Amino acid sequence: MTAKSAAAAARATVYGYPRQGRNRELKKAIEGYWKGRVTAEALRATAAELRRTNWQQLADAGIDEVPTGDFSYYDHVLDTTVMVGAVPDRHRAAVAANALDGYFAMARGTRDVAPLEMTKWFDTNYHYLVPELGPDTVFTADSGKQVAELTEALALGLAARPVLVGPVTYLLLAKPTPGVAAGFDPLTLLDRLLPVYAEVLADLRAAGAEWVQLDEPALVQDRTPAELNAAERAYRDLGALTDRPKLLTASYFDRLGNALPVLAKAPVEGLAVDFTEAAAANLDALAAVGGLPGKRLVAGVVNGRNIWVDDLEKSLATLATLLGLADRVDVSASCSLLHVPLDTGAERDIEPQILRWLAFARQKTTEIVTLAKGLAQGTDTIAAELAANRADLASRASSPITRDPVVRSRAAAVTEADGRRSQSYAERAAAQRAHLGLPLLPTTTIGSFPQTGEVRTARAGLRAGRIDTAGYEERIKAEIQEVINFQEKAGLDVLVHGEPERNDMVQYFAEQLTGYLATQHGWVQSYGTRYVRPPILAGDISRPEPMTVRWTEYARSLTDRPVKGMLTGPVTMLAWSFVRDDQPLGDTARQVALALRDEVADLEAAGTSVIQVDEPALRETLPLRAADHAAYLAWATEAFRLSTSGVRPDTQIHTHMCYAEFGDIVQAIDDLDADVISLEAARSHMQVARELAAHGYPREAGPGVYDIHSPRVPSAAEAAALLRTGLAAIPAERLWVNPDCGLKTRGWAETRAALENLVAAARTVRGEL
Ligand code: GLN
Ligand code: ZN
Repeated sequence: MTAKSAAAAARATVYGYPRQGRNRELKKAIEGYWKGRVTAEALRATAAELRRTNWQQLADAGIDEVPTGDFSYYDHVLDTTVMVGAVPDRHRAAVAANALDGYFAMARGTRDVAPLEMTKWFDTNYHYLVPELGPDTVFTADSGKQVAELTEALALGLAARPVLVGPVTYLLLAKPTPGVAAGFDPLTLLDRLLPVYAEVLADLRAAGAEWVQLDEPALVQDRTPAELNAAERAYRDLGALTDRPKLLTASYFDRLGNALPVLAKAPVEGLAVDFTEAAAANLDALAAVGGLPGKRLVAGVVNGRNIWVDDLEKSLATLATLLGLADRVDVSASCSLLHVPLDTGAERDIEPQILRWLAFARQKTTEIVTLAKGLAQGTDTIAAELAANRADLASRASSPITRDPVVRSRAAAVTEADGRRSQSYAERAAAQRAHLGLPLLPTTTIGSFPQTGEVRTARAGLRAGRIDTAGYEERIKAEIQEVINFQEKAGLDVLVHGEPERNDMVQYFAEQLTGYLATQHGWVQSYGTRYVRPPILAGDISRPEPMTVRWTEYARSLTDRPVKGMLTGPVTMLAWSFVRDDQPLGDTARQVALALRDEVADLEAAGTSVIQVDEPALRETLPLRAADHAAYLAWATEAFRLSTSGVRPDTQIHTHMCYAEFGDIVQAIDDLDADVISLEAARSHMQVARELAAHGYPREAGPGVYDIHSPRVPSAAEAAALLRTGLAAIPAERLWVNPDCGLKTRGWAETRAALENLVAAARTVRGEL
């Protein structure tokens, strides 16, 4: 190979594209189908039309090889479960009766049958359905969907490459079937699974696939030698097949580390590597193994999961380094474009100059094509694009939005002491006890109360101009009044205002902070038909005025009991937004923390004695590789403390996290130095209480006694039993009584009953002390 021939062959490709369509047609069609308003035929036609439009868009932009099979009615991991015939027993009858309905039953459950569990796709905000596998799992190949979609694309005259979840990642993402003996490792099924992949590959080849992509993102996580061995075996066996297309194994989201030599040496024809998240590490590792002689390297140089315009010259430099390391170097995004919105062209409210800093899926496609052209034909053939790109990057770098000197000098002046409370926890606890006068086992909630139809209608009405601000605020006040009245009557000890004014716990603050951008159409799939519009942390963050004080004050005016102020913490503000790529995450977190610190101070000055700063995303933002955890947790916990530590000793700081597993971050939870933490615990029978106790966690904690993910109302006896379990780990002086999370998604009837039972349980158990 020569660098010159590798360059001349450069082509543009992507691994996947947003599924929903310009006007979220897919969401509407699927939800219509669920409600019986759209027929299966109409749904299929909508889906086929969306696929065609997407491919055509990609081809028109100059993408040489389009992906197929990345489309999904719900989730591509669930599609893989169907492809390998791993339908759980409880869903078999439904799938046999009607494949489409059975598919949705696996995704969403039915009245009688539970769905598959859902969890986050690596460190993105996309959720996949977790395969359930056991020693008795029998795999059977069903290549129907993959073959059909490939056939559609080929019929359009396009070069197409099916994209599949690879067998190793599929098994590593699976969990043992419920009820299977603990310790079962799905990876032991590899030898059973590979023949099924072989069959699918043969079918795809017969259908005309030259290449097939097998996605193995699980190999960018820390893997044991046994797991790496499995990967080696998988690709040795698949590579040895005679009746197969060329294979491209794809990795993304981080560095391949020890898995890189395994994949580089595997007898497959290509490797796709992420050169954004961990460019330097992957470059070094690739060079260390002597490159990929005789192979195709797909270089993910354009960030596939963030929304900033690419630095084309930087990407070209990376690509130039890669030439000579492979037979052919193709250009792509780092991962599927599923994780970014479709098109900046749909945005009307963002200033045109700022919009030029952003690249959504369509714009990224163009960047990829430009880079491939520059690589293949020389950079002078893309001189105009490079000049425009340079101007956009310069405009962003020099904008006062990007750099606010006041914010910067304040952040630079932060000292270690700013992130420390003025007194130890023991002293604070005594001061808070005296100040708040709460009973043992105090009862509270996590913040939100049911978001009624009236509130949603009012919010939509305000946006559409049907009602004015005054009318909207009357509605919000009425909601707060109802929430406060109910809590007083129910006998809760620390009240909340119920968050009726918040559409979303991140967006609400993003809309009020300078430096954040909101999109009108920047929808990204979270799971199934649920799409979110993450705000964009675009510039330096400041708080022009108080964000929550008015509503908290209004709530406080209605009651004599303490009302908790309610804020979203810096880590969660970052985790559920698109983040800046021009400074370390920790710097952005610190700016957000300082803005929150001012809000905390204003709440306190207005008389709020209990302030909760939610960090549900603390654990989910953990980097994929353990070696990166400590650095992350250092800035994350520092940002939290910075936002909360300016208060008086007798002001009580709460935090809240949900997710059943906390064992690996107990030290970080401790490092937050919050006075009280509420955690999801009901389903795990207070597991977290035991974990906190084992760690010697010294502060107060409220492991949830009400599972708010279920419409079920726990009885007082059930809640009391959980409390007694909690008391076995946490002494009564430090145990709080609360639900697992906010009540926003619940109805009023069940919320009323559940909270009344919760208070009754607290009273019963107090009586036993
Ligand atoms: N305070 C928020 C609420 O109650 C917390 C939500 C969350 O943890 N996801 O809605
Ligand atoms: Zn929660």
